Amino acid sequence: MVFSVIKSMTKTCRGCRGEKNCNEFYRAKWARDGYDDLCRVCKSDESKRYYREAEQEIILKVLSWQFDNFEKVQGYKRKYKLKKKYEKNNGETTIQRKRGRPPKCEKEQEVGSQS
Ligand SMILES: [Zn+2]
Repeated sequence: MVFSVIKSMTKTCRGCRGEKNCNEFYRAKWARDGYDDLCRVCKSDESKRYYREAEQEIILKVLSWQFDNFEKVQGYKRKYKLKKKYEKNNGETTIQRKRGRPPKCEKEQEVGSQS
């Protein structure tokens, strides 16, 4: 590209309707003039709003993933349950078993019971 002339262009912001210098806008490849149609201030406001809305979307995505991968999720849960059951029956945690530590002498206090 041989655009050597630097023009001081102004642009009207779509958000705040203010006429601002081009350096107040982010560069945008998709835009015809090469600049975003929102000024930096409005853009940051918009992205903040976007992320707030996206948060809900992300939660929905996770939930729908869990729904689509129901078997997988159940598998994780079953594994976790089996691990807990093993720990309960053997009086040691699986981590302790891996590290080769002897089981605790004193009986661990049970906090609620799950079947
Ligand atoms: Zn603006």
